[in-house]
Amino acid sequence: MHKHTLFLKDEAALLNTARALADGVKAHENALAESGLTIYLLGELGAGKTTFSRGFIQQLGHQGHVKSPTYTLVESYELEPWQINHFDLYRLADPEELEFMGIRDYLGTHRIILAEWPQRGEGYLPQPDIIITIDYADTARSITFEALTKRGRELLDTM
Ligand code: ADP
Ligand code: MG
Repeated sequence: MHKHTLFLKDEAALLNTARALADGVKAHENALAESGLTIYLLGELGAGKTTFSRGFIQQLGHQGHVKSPTYTLVESYELEPWQINHFDLYRLADPEELEFMGIRDYLGTHRIILAEWPQRGEGYLPQPDIIITIDYADTARSITFEALTKRGRELLDTM
């Protein structure tokens, strides 16, 4: 399956899909470890990108609060064996800033990038394995998962 859409009636449903993706990462740890994994999160302000990230990061073992990286641009989590780097590039003035931030160090073995507003980092962020799009559906949401690489496809197949 390369692309699929789910209807999410509330925040709990959104968190459940995020946890399911994190469970897939755990199940595919060996296959994903070496290359790392890059996930783009698309959707308007308030769609649920940070909420999704919270469910994903907590399911991989983070016990505390997940802070929106709106002002810091990136929040990193060391969750053995993973390092999760959660970006929000909404306030990025110039994609070149990512170069100065040492963007290359954020991808690699055992690293996961979750990027909100990846469009703002075009040309500097790694190419995505999975693109997740969250859309408003009245007061609820729909979510679309699209795989762009073989490992992205294998991961979505576990959901
Ligand atoms: P973003 O990071 O995309 O700007 P946030 O995750 O910060 O958005 O905020 C999303 C808001 O929408 C939260 O207040 C959350 O409670 C709400 N929300 C999330 N999922 C749903 C849903 N499926 N239905 C209704 N509201 C939702
Ligand atoms: Mg956000």
